[in-house]
Amino acid sequence: MHTFSVLYNLHYRFVEQKTIYTYCGIVLVAINPYEDCSHLYGQEMIQVYRGVGKQVRGLDPHVYAVAEEAIFDMSEYGKNQSIIVSGESGAGKTVSAKFAMRYFAAVGSARSSSSLTGIEDRVLASNPIMEAIGNAKTIRNDNSSRFGKFIQINFTERFAIAGAEMKTYLLEKSRVVFQAQNERNYHVFYQMCAAKDDAMLKNLHLEDAVNYFYTGQGGHGRIAGVDDRADFAETTKAFGLLGINADQQKDIFRVLAGLLQLGNISFASGGDEIAVVEASMQQGIKRLCSDLYEIDSTALDTWLTVREIRAAGDTLRKPLNTSEAIASRDALAKVLYSAVFAWIVHKVNESLVEKAPTPSPRKQHVDPMSTATPATPTTSSKGNRFIGVLDIYGFETFDINSFEQFCINYANEKLQQQFNQHVFKLEQEEYEREEIAWVRIDFYDNQPCIDLIEDKLGLIDLLDEQCRMGRGTDVDWLNQLRSSVALKTKPHFELPKIQEPAFIVKHFAADVTYRVDGFLDKNKDTVSEQLLEVIKKSKFPFLREILGVEEQTATNGTGYSAVRVTNDSGPQKKQNKKTVSCQFRDSLRDLMMILGSTRPHYVRCIKPNDQKASFTFDPKRAIQQLRACGVLETVRISAAGYPSRWLYDDFGKRYRVLYPEGKAMWRDQPKKFAEKACAKWIDDHSKFALGKSKIFFRTGQVAQLERLRSET
Ligand code: ATP
Ligand code: MG
Repeated sequence: MHTFSVLYNLHYRFVEQKTIYTYCGIVLVAINPYEDCSHLYGQEMIQVYRGVGKQVRGLDPHVYAVAEEAIFDMSEYGKNQSIIVSGESGAGKTVSAKFAMRYFAAVGSARSSSSLTGIEDRVLASNPIMEAIGNAKTIRNDNSSRFGKFIQINFTERFAIAGAEMKTYLLEKSRVVFQAQNERNYHVFYQMCAAKDDAMLKNLHLEDAVNYFYTGQGGHGRIAGVDDRADFAETTKAFGLLGINADQQKDIFRVLAGLLQLGNISFASGGDEIAVVEASMQQGIKRLCSDLYEIDSTALDTWLTVREIRAAGDTLRKPLNTSEAIASRDALAKVLYSAVFAWIVHKVNESLVEKAPTPSPRKQHVDPMSTATPATPTTSSKGNRFIGVLDIYGFETFDINSFEQFCINYANEKLQQQFNQHVFKLEQEEYEREEIAWVRIDFYDNQPCIDLIEDKLGLIDLLDEQCRMGRGTDVDWLNQLRSSVALKTKPHFELPKIQEPAFIVKHFAADVTYRVDGFLDKNKDTVSEQLLEVIKKSKFPFLREILGVEEQTATNGTGYSAVRVTNDSGPQKKQNKKTVSCQFRDSLRDLMMILGSTRPHYVRCIKPNDQKASFTFDPKRAIQQLRACGVLETVRISAAGYPSRWLYDDFGKRYRVLYPEGKAMWRDQPKKFAEKACAKWIDDHSKFALGKSKIFFRTGQVAQLERLRSET
């Protein structure tokens, strides 16, 4: 029943009224219009929402309204906030997150003192940089984010921005060396190639992007409506704003240009399946080694095709076949790209740190909407409060799913759980505590699926165990999964009916079949030790810096020195880096801790059709997504429940004008006051409920009371 009315409502508002935002319960649903809607986001629009506070729910739904509500809640209840944006690829997460940031910057700058000017611009400038190095054209989205991002914006007591901190999650490294048809590598490469005659790129021997294997595989490489050359200018401008100077930028581009050269090195079979570097490659290798990377070309030539193996105290040289040589070259490229990426993120963060004024203690109200037990307000490390904005990849299922989808969907399970906990579990527990008449709603608890993935002897543990065995293969891992007694009892794990090298996880949104090929390599994410040594001996200081060669002096625990090296020798050397899935599990755990300490606000983005057609709504696609992100469930609970609440004391204080007949009743008998005041103004008595310590309201009632209060 609800499903139909939700869908009808969204459809009507979107198609007939061209309204892209709608509240569904506590969630803001944003439907991608696929049309320029700048009129919705201008300065005037910011003014409409600014400072409106709690009454913002009475205005038209907007991402600015959510941002305003977050600021209000932060100031009113002294609690950190988060805006969690989710949705599938192309649904509009990054656009929504950017508008939320723009709102904070606008509010934050107007109130900041002169010494702080600039920080808002820097926060915003982080966007084009991260998009240049972390976004790419995919078949689903011309500007698809290939990493997750959580940016924590710190505010002073007076809501000026006092710095920011960004965390990134799981960059899709494989894209650096491989792109499917009609897809591209990261934008920055095309920007560089389009601007190859720019002074900044002098002597890098850049050519058109089609001429490089790493940028030409997907096709012609242009994106309609995108001017890569102009975007290059924007990227460098943003770098400059964030304090990455021209020399550093040149260094970055030099490493990236080198990657393109590296990718063009191809191999021939020298007989007996042994790879040799193609003879025609000499010019490219020379450029790479002498002009770009300042490394020893003979050594590079050797170690691209040979690996050293230590066995029983001896060191042997093992020639690689062509596919092994290609894999080795690509592994190096991926390591170098992620090192550049990590270095840039680190620099961006350095530039977003602003000296924070120490906040003085201020009075805090108890958050009446908080479903958690009132705790000491969490504050950011600087002593300020923050609002975090999470823009992370949504649930994904393709024809063929691999390690990347496994990690992404795992992240989504965790976020869904956080959402469930906020909306359902704690909510219902509160009704029970307050002894409100209430019919319990069942909700889907996805803990068992999370356990399957991250628990002891779960999928990640078993994968890691297989990775630790020197010579384990993807199929060995699958066999282990097949024979595991523990997994047999897990309802969320299945093996495909037909014999294929895959396993199935029954996720909250859908069942996904994961092909095991590549899991081990992607999880180990190793690079040849000898090849890396060649690079580390470079005379190009920046290259050594990003690889952490001077880690003792140059790095301060930033982690960009952690490179895992291939080690297929017999006895295990001490591992200096965790596997990818393990790191990811840890970083998700941290993220959930942070989100758990905030008051969350949810924006669910919906992609209304697959043709990128403007204001076109395909109900089938919409329903899929509404289900996958829990919107339908929230509507169910909001309709049946009471989304707003006040402690009686607070209610009395705020609404005493609404029942002047009661004189001091609001102070002496706040519960009775609430009952009388509500009976006076709310005709339908089922729209509120009196709990032990709080009064609860159905949707829309608080906005109505606020209106009355401001009119009185
Ligand atoms: P991914 O997961 O691939 O990163 P995403 O959810 O971040 O996807 P966006 O890049 O934000 O998707 O949006 C895709 C495109 O949709 C945008 O480039 C823009 O063209 C359009 N779009 C999204 N939201 C809006 C909006 N509010 N107004 C106008 N166009 C929009
Ligand atoms: Mg995005």
